[in-house]
Amino acid sequence: MAYDTIIIGGSHAGMSAALQLLRARRQVLVIDAGAPRNRFSDRAHSVLGADGMDRATLMAESRRQIERYPTLTWVEGSAVDVQGVLDDFRVTTDDCATHRGRRLLFATGVVDSLPDVEGLAERWGTGVFHCPYCHAYELDQGELAVLAIGARSLEQARLLNDWGRVTLLTNQALTIDRASRQEMEDRRIAIEETPVVRVTDQATVELTDGRRLAFAGIFTSCGTAPASPLARQLGCQLSELPTEQYVVTTDCKETTVKGAYACGDTALAHHSITLALADGAFAGSQIHHSLVEAPLSAGTH
Ligand SMILES: Cc1cc2nc3c(=O)[nH]c(=O)nc-3n(C[C@H](O)[C@H](O)[C@H](O)COP(=O)(O)OP(=O)(O)OC[C@H]3O[C@@H](n4cnc5c(N)ncnc54)[C@H](O)[C@@H]3O)c2cc1C
Repeated sequence: MAYDTIIIGGSHAGMSAALQLLRARRQVLVIDAGAPRNRFSDRAHSVLGADGMDRATLMAESRRQIERYPTLTWVEGSAVDVQGVLDDFRVTTDDCATHRGRRLLFATGVVDSLPDVEGLAERWGTGVFHCPYCHAYELDQGELAVLAIGARSLEQARLLNDWGRVTLLTNQALTIDRASRQEMEDRRIAIEETPVVRVTDQATVELTDGRRLAFAGIFTSCGTAPASPLARQLGCQLSELPTEQYVVTTDCKETTVKGAYACGDTALAHHSITLALADGAFAGSQIHHSLVEAPLSAGTH
């Protein structure tokens, strides 16, 4: 049997898309490897209706809600190969099973690439963050560091100034001209130009001159790229931005491959749970429209 839609990635975006299709009584297969991007943090913030909720509980509740629909099939595992064309996609999973679907949806999220500083990656989501809207409020207006990766770190320092007293660690990644230095001074943002050796404790920075600066949290910008190579392998076009790669989609969330759609972080330049939920809901409805509008001979429904 061919599913109406195979969704690869069963987190916020994928489940939100599934919900629309399931409510239209369509046959949906969700394949999920169980590694959402925010798995390093205990709580999800800035999600209206679930602000501050335990991350795993939010995910479990979403899954419980879509599992009420009888036309859902859920496979725990990884999709490892994708082939085919509109109305006849084939997805192979890591247990060597092959599934057929009329439409395909990539909701596979992104991976973050962090600056190469000892101790940073281990504290990702607990003492080291990228998004102030998700994490800064809980740091209680404490001392905050911005670990620079380039000119855009000035923007991050400006922004974070609303959440605490900011120190900009240039760490040889950012040269500050006179105008920016004056601006930072006017905003009472401290500039620390001694390179960082490592991060220890909750969010303490050790500098090359031996000083240790303790912060409530460290923020840094990170590059993102699709977590799965499958969309690219199928021939979907990716954005050309070197630091923020995502799958290019039309206004209807269809990729450059007919019948293959993408949503959530993997198809957006701006990322959050709320945006992923909305993007997934829209993708789900657009896929349903395309199924309804297809010639009747094209499918099994
Ligand atoms: C540390 C951290 C904390 C965050 N905290 C917040 C927060 O508090 N609030 C907020 O709004 N946002 C937060 N975010 C951002 C948020 O995690 C993402 O915007 C959101 O998870 C995107 O949802 P998604 O469904 O698009 O992707 P994801 O949640 O990343 O899910 C992608 C899913 O696809 C699966 N997958 C990938 N490849 C395959 C494959 N080949 N086969 C099968 N399955 C596959 C993965 O296992 C995963 O389950 C945080 C991000 C980070 C890094």
